[in-house]
Amino acid sequence: METGEVVTCTSYLVDEPQFPYCKGCGHGQLIRALDAALVKLQLNPSDVDITTDIGCVGLADALFKSVHTVHTTHGRSTAFAVGTILADRILAEGKLKTVVLIGDGGAMIGLVHLVHAAQLNVDVTVILHNNLFFGMTGGQNSALSPLGFITTTTRRGNIVPPLDICQMMQSCGAGFVARKFATDHDLPEVISEAIAYPGFALVEAVELCTAFGPRLNELTGKRLKEVVAQQGWSTGVLVRREQRADFGQAYKEKYPRTEVQASDDSIPIRFQHTLTRPVGLVVSGSAGERVQSSARLFCQAAVMSGLYSTQKNDNPVTQGTGFSFSEVGISPEPILYTGIEQADGVIIVSEDGWQTLQGRRILDRLSPEAMVIIDSTLPQPQSAARCVSLPLRRLASGKLAAAAGLGLYLKLSGLFPLEAYQAAISETYGEQAADYLKAVDTVLNHPVSS
Ligand code: SF4
Repeated sequence: METGEVVTCTSYLVDEPQFPYCKGCGHGQLIRALDAALVKLQLNPSDVDITTDIGCVGLADALFKSVHTVHTTHGRSTAFAVGTILADRILAEGKLKTVVLIGDGGAMIGLVHLVHAAQLNVDVTVILHNNLFFGMTGGQNSALSPLGFITTTTRRGNIVPPLDICQMMQSCGAGFVARKFATDHDLPEVISEAIAYPGFALVEAVELCTAFGPRLNELTGKRLKEVVAQQGWSTGVLVRREQRADFGQAYKEKYPRTEVQASDDSIPIRFQHTLTRPVGLVVSGSAGERVQSSARLFCQAAVMSGLYSTQKNDNPVTQGTGFSFSEVGISPEPILYTGIEQADGVIIVSEDGWQTLQGRRILDRLSPEAMVIIDSTLPQPQSAARCVSLPLRRLASGKLAAAAGLGLYLKLSGLFPLEAYQAAISETYGEQAADYLKAVDTVLNHPVSS
């Protein structure tokens, strides 16, 4: 496309779409209505994200072209969309529009995600395909099944009052809420208004699952409207609130990137680094042996040296037994992706730490430039990386082996001054820091062979 050229998008669907739904299913009407809404808004396809849930509703991804589509796990589509939009609002240009396609089954499974998205007021539009039960899996009762509704799990009729999801979303702070029927002629208008609304919006579209609705409840389009009326559910646009700040915007205002280092709780930079590229470290040991707190001290020292750092921890469900694991990212530039594809350094300080690394394939991917620091009682890794083996646990009395191993890595790699790490330990632990500093010092003074 030439710069400045205006191209009208006449459809966001693939050419000659083959709808995968049963004949007469409301999903087809909803997808057509969503497409018409997008055409009305003329959004750039690359600024549109459609996030789908599990169920027949999740077959929609393949029907759209050019837009981003994300197919997620059951009930979690809203949570994925919230993450997507916050990343866009806080880290990127803030142009994205995210639409969630979810069924009433998924809404029930992921109810708290809807609640939270409405509370946060993130710019996500949820189109809830409510056919009043789980369609794809055989017509089971959902939290939105009407009273008296026959499903394959409530053969004598549902006796549990259904959730009024629209009322619930309003009480959670949603700014735009509508309940429509999939057959409503003005549905594209309402969906386009919801997408254009600069905050959380929910459109509940009541529709027929033709595979089970007519068979179990003699449902027709007319009967569907009677069922909705019997529940006392209002229809139409139910709420159109004045815009309140969406979470992404509020977050950016509270934590402007240029002011982060000047805020009261920021860590002053007192040391200088010479790092020119991102570095990823893995520390693997046992619970209760200060693996994660030592990694945090390392990150703190990196920040004190003017670097950016991230830390991701892992441990079993139990907090005091089994392995303890940390991934540390250090970079001279802001870190926008916290994953470590290939570690630059690995510190292994116990049998638990060794065992947990076996299932993660971290050692297999090390380059010859990487370094492994390992307690000498453990097996030597088969790796291209430089391996430094020494009695870490004996020298650092076991529970401080991770802290000492990180100190040794810092000395050998020269990522940033060792003094920064020692200062982080002293300032964090005060009088208790002596044990840490002694453990680090003892290991640093031990002869190293590799
Ligand atoms: S099973 Fe029901 S919800 Fe699924 S495609 Fe068929 S009619 Fe639609």
